[in-house]
Amino acid sequence: MRVYEIAEKLGVTNKEVLGVLHGCGEIVSGHMSSLTDEQEALVRSELQKRGDAIGKKSTAVAHRKKGGEKRSEKPPFIIRPMTVAAFADYLGVPSGGVILTLLRQGVVSTKNQALSKDVVASLAKHYELVVAKKSAAEKEAVLGEAISPQEGSDSRLPVVVVVGHVDHGKTTLLDFIRKTRAVSKEKGGITQHIGAYEAKTDHGHIVFLDTPGHEAFSRIRARGVGVADLVVLVVAADDGIMPQTVEAIKYAKDAKVPIVVAINKIDRAEASKIEIIKRELAQYDLLPEEWGGDIVCVPVSAKTGEGVDHLLEIIALQAELLELKADDSRQAQGYVLESRLEKGRGAVATVIGRHGVLRVGDLFVCGKVFGKVSSLVSSSGERVDSVGPSIPAVVAGFSAVPEVGTLFEVVSSEGLRQAKDFASLSGKASSDCRQAGTEEELVLIVKTDTNSTKEALLESINKLISKDKERCVNIVQASVGAINESDILLASGTGATILGLHVKADQNVSILARKKNVSILLSEIIYKLLEELEILFDRRKKVKLIKKKIGEAVVRKVFDIKGSGVIAGVYVKDGIFTGNGEVVAFRRGKRLGGGKIQSLQRDRKIVKEVHKGFECAFLISDFTDWQVDDTVECVIEVPEK
Ligand code: GDP
Repeated sequence: MRVYEIAEKLGVTNKEVLGVLHGCGEIVSGHMSSLTDEQEALVRSELQKRGDAIGKKSTAVAHRKKGGEKRSEKPPFIIRPMTVAAFADYLGVPSGGVILTLLRQGVVSTKNQALSKDVVASLAKHYELVVAKKSAAEKEAVLGEAISPQEGSDSRLPVVVVVGHVDHGKTTLLDFIRKTRAVSKEKGGITQHIGAYEAKTDHGHIVFLDTPGHEAFSRIRARGVGVADLVVLVVAADDGIMPQTVEAIKYAKDAKVPIVVAINKIDRAEASKIEIIKRELAQYDLLPEEWGGDIVCVPVSAKTGEGVDHLLEIIALQAELLELKADDSRQAQGYVLESRLEKGRGAVATVIGRHGVLRVGDLFVCGKVFGKVSSLVSSSGERVDSVGPSIPAVVAGFSAVPEVGTLFEVVSSEGLRQAKDFASLSGKASSDCRQAGTEEELVLIVKTDTNSTKEALLESINKLISKDKERCVNIVQASVGAINESDILLASGTGATILGLHVKADQNVSILARKKNVSILLSEIIYKLLEELEILFDRRKKVKLIKKKIGEAVVRKVFDIKGSGVIAGVYVKDGIFTGNGEVVAFRRGKRLGGGKIQSLQRDRKIVKEVHKGFECAFLISDFTDWQVDDTVECVIEVPEK
């Protein structure tokens, strides 16, 4: 009997069995080790003897674990620029309290005021917040540390990556497992190649990453992400350890991910080769367990399927030892496994979650990209409403194609807005537009009645953009259906304008849009919508303004009115003075100063403008040193052209 078998039989953990054996001086390496009859008897009697005590102890341990893993406290606070309201939100106190604290620190603020990182840091210190070590931006670079695989109290499936030298049989092995064990087969679904799939074994389900080669693994690893919980190292029995095998061993070791070795192609190699491979493995510090190490080597044939079930069993057992956990109650977090641009659906990505349940409609941030989950498709090609941790799914609704390996996080609409702010504050715009030094992008949400209308509209928008390189759009979402409240919330969170072709927004939605200051452009005719879009583009073009003199006057009287300020009474000699203009004062040809007109009056009445030949009086913001006979010019800003 093997360690895990007796553990299962006696209803204890592998660790407990190993503990008993080691305690009695027996040399047993791991849960896969076979026990002699004597060792088996020893385990039974020892466990029986200590039965009571062990029972109590393990309950105590279980209790402690549960308490320790329940994370009811807040996640650590991330210091980044944010509004007073957002900070107060995090604290769970009214904004007023934060405003007062800031005031005491000499910072005058309002609820919606954006605070710099330094001010946020001092607030965090004041409120004694537990501060996250990394900022959101830094977090991106060290994703491996971003999500702990062991946190939480809900169990999750193991995620396995298959690596090894080219032609050693990785693809064949993954295909064999997919053909014989994929969950979609049971459900009658058609497996989609989404970069990962779920396999069913007698010991539970396992998720396999199946991006060809170890490309994904190394790309993901390059960003410091340990997406996989376990590595299956495929070594062809007839070829032995090759350069990419060594590289893969290094990856796995660096990522501190346990390794199971599959010695492949045993159908065509002599049995003696298996021993040779084990010896080679030992040279790379992978000591097979039958030699006292902890590496399980399973001889398989990916072609005939021989040994594959045993391999799956070993993977499941190893995974069990890892005690992989997730926290389902948290907002979903995971990693991007694959990403691409899909016709009709825009940017999509396969996301594999670590914590939380990801649902259609969730808003998310993913590195420099963001969006709203518009659909979720499982590896069996089914549309689903939600997916839990470890289950891969294709997410649609990205604002742009995210990079592989990027952390994917569900956020509130405020969080999304902040992430956008943060992206622009840290100079990382959400699209390439700003990087190219062009105009700021136009953020859009596209809603249409059918998929074909949507494609037509998206194509036309593309054409419109290509006409002018200054034009740049960021379509956060393009979907079919009437405009609804969550579209408005997404628009409000992202600063998007909603374009609706052949669709409507009902009254409640329109009211919400007004409240949230979201513009909706609706039309039944595509070119009308495009015309409106053109206008929007033109409006966004930064118009260069220049100052233009429109009138000249001379000061006739100066009134110093207590409480109000110094008022200049003038006679307009030329042109016109307007209430929205600025004035510049001159004395004997020398410029004295000036400022914006605060109130322009004629005969004690506030007026918009005063023409040549009339008298008027005004107060300006920054200048009070008036004298009779000073010359005053009225200037306004006008577009350069
Ligand atoms: P990869 O580059 O590691 O993905 O290797 P492939 O899965 O593409 O396999 C390379 C070649 O080895 C293909 O021709 C496979 O048919 C063959 N092959 C893979 N596994 C086995 C096996 O177990 N036995 C035999 N005889 N051939 C295998």
